[in-house]
Amino acid sequence: MEAPPYEKERFLNAEKEMSELVRASMSKYESKPNVMFAKLSEVSKALSKGLVNWSRVRSLWPLQFGLSCCAMELMDFGSARIDAERRGYLFFRATPRQADVMVVAGWVTKSMVPEIKRLYEQMLTPKYVIAYGECATAGGPWWESYNIIKGIDQVLPVDVYVVGCPPKPENLYAGFMKLQKKIGGEIED
Ligand code: SF4
Repeated sequence: MEAPPYEKERFLNAEKEMSELVRASMSKYESKPNVMFAKLSEVSKALSKGLVNWSRVRSLWPLQFGLSCCAMELMDFGSARIDAERRGYLFFRATPRQADVMVVAGWVTKSMVPEIKRLYEQMLTPKYVIAYGECATAGGPWWESYNIIKGIDQVLPVDVYVVGCPPKPENLYAGFMKLQKKIGGEIED
């Protein structure tokens, strides 16, 4: 069978029709520049928020502060044996203005409550509280005492409770890991 004769005009028309068809089908995917910039700014905001949260989770700064025998265990937590820094629980800070985690280690007498509250208020925000041991959690052996409160959660919002009397430093390590998960949004409570 013989091939139809080449008609230049017909070929040009077909090419034009095809371009129009492609343009029409692509037009629904086109984004206006301001929409694109809005989306880009959303992406950059989400990225910076994620970066801030990532840093926050990995750089907790506990306050150097102890109340009674649990404070001995807290000192052990800071030793090379536990090596808490490998997970970002950095140096204990001697001033609340450079700390964001308060580890309440020991029983809380009523006379100490105003001082503890003052330290908490001076800490950086966002700030977190760990109740370390039975006394800080619920009053411990002195839960019926006239001068000891039944847990630090009566005066401060507690994020993590750590069990034991005396509580092991390893338990506090686990408590910090739980706090990291909470800050990172992996767990709610
Ligand atoms: S929980 Fe036990 S070890 Fe800790 S302060 Fe109370 S009595 Fe002491």
